[in-house]
Amino acid sequence: MARIVMKFGGTSMAGTERIRRVAQLVKRQAERGDEVAVVVSAMAGDTDRLVNFCREANALYDPAEYDVVVAAGEQITSGLLAITLQALGCNARSWLGWQMPIHTDDAHAKARIGSIDTDELLASMGTGCIAVIPGFQGLTDNNRVTTLGRGGSDTSAVAVAAAVKADRCDIYTDVDGVYTTDPRIVARARKLKAVTYEEMLELASVGSKVLQTRSVGLAMKEGVRVQVLSSFIDENAPDADSIPGTMIVTDEELENAQVERQLITGIAADKNEAKITLTRVPDRPGAVAHIFAPLADANINVDMIIQNVGRDKGETDVTFTCPQADLARCTDILENQRDAIGYNRLIPDTKVAKISVVGVGMKSHAGVASTMFSSLADRKINIQAISTSEIKVSVLIDEDETELAVRVLHTAYGLDADR
Ligand code: ADP
Ligand code: ASP
Ligand code: MG
Repeated sequence: MARIVMKFGGTSMAGTERIRRVAQLVKRQAERGDEVAVVVSAMAGDTDRLVNFCREANALYDPAEYDVVVAAGEQITSGLLAITLQALGCNARSWLGWQMPIHTDDAHAKARIGSIDTDELLASMGTGCIAVIPGFQGLTDNNRVTTLGRGGSDTSAVAVAAAVKADRCDIYTDVDGVYTTDPRIVARARKLKAVTYEEMLELASVGSKVLQTRSVGLAMKEGVRVQVLSSFIDENAPDADSIPGTMIVTDEELENAQVERQLITGIAADKNEAKITLTRVPDRPGAVAHIFAPLADANINVDMIIQNVGRDKGETDVTFTCPQADLARCTDILENQRDAIGYNRLIPDTKVAKISVVGVGMKSHAGVASTMFSSLADRKINIQAISTSEIKVSVLIDEDETELAVRVLHTAYGLDADR
């Protein structure tokens, strides 16, 4: 007997027909004699719809109330899956985030899980009852509902898997594994048998939304075995225990598996960033701190930052990126700080995309960045900002050139599958 956490994303849960297919996969796993907990997302599109309601109600909405609204999508699918499992003759019940509870901090809309109470859950699973847990949801110490940030059901699944000491956490989605890049953008993307935690963490953090970044960080910290695989399979497809998808593994495991290591593991694109430029900021000590300190206080994650060298008159332009979802709050804060900072104009731009290449091989090889710059230049793609880490290079470009840039780079780094 094993203990397995199965997570199903929004596309897999979109409508009663698909939920029935999910229920069949869950039933098949449970019939192997395993203890099963299922974590579900809202139906595809539902969370977007709920987010838009909040924005329409007030662009500067209270994040605590936003959480009350957007947590609802997962409540519906968890109940529906429990009903469907029961209809298939399975013993199943739902466990809402506040019922378990899943304890989080109070950073509403992007809360972090602290701990999960599992006594009752494990006792119930031990009787053969399948636990259906809505992803994305949590509860603060003050009993306020929280959500874990977009894509957060992946993190719920890994956190539950860590808390119940599951043998494996299977993340079922609408593709059959992790690819060298989004297979919807590049048809010749290659499926990876395995990818290391470190590389997956970096890929996720730069926009490969197949796994939420925090879920990978948590899996790495807690040593959770994670597999990404497809829920769109028929009864004759190999079962999850035979590892048909992509396993997230340690460096050591990858070496033992003797998977040939490429210089670049993958390429990611992120269209959810916004660029903000502040013009004519005084070029003096403390000016930059005046910009970023209030943003940090408001929990806004700033990413790429460029400060142009002041040309004359002791003034400089400062450009940075932040998530588009935070843009309204970000501009509001900066407008309130205008006198303290002393800038001239605030120019927001949402028509940008961040393209990143990721690979551990970069640590020991020079030239990755220059290949990126020259390949983009050959296609006349202009680079607006650059950032790097030990195993990643990212550039900011015009959003309209996203697909072209990803294809060009996929080919340039020799990642295209043979056909
Ligand atoms: P779910 O609703 O199951 O959580 P997501 O839409 O969040 O699914 O994530 C799956 C999607 O991630 C795929 O449909 C694919 O378009 C996208 N994706 C982006 N990068 C990759 C990659 N490197 N490998 C696989 N899928 C990727
Ligand atoms: N439903 C949430 C979202 O769309 C969480 C998830 O699907 O992981 O972001
Ligand atoms: Mg997702």
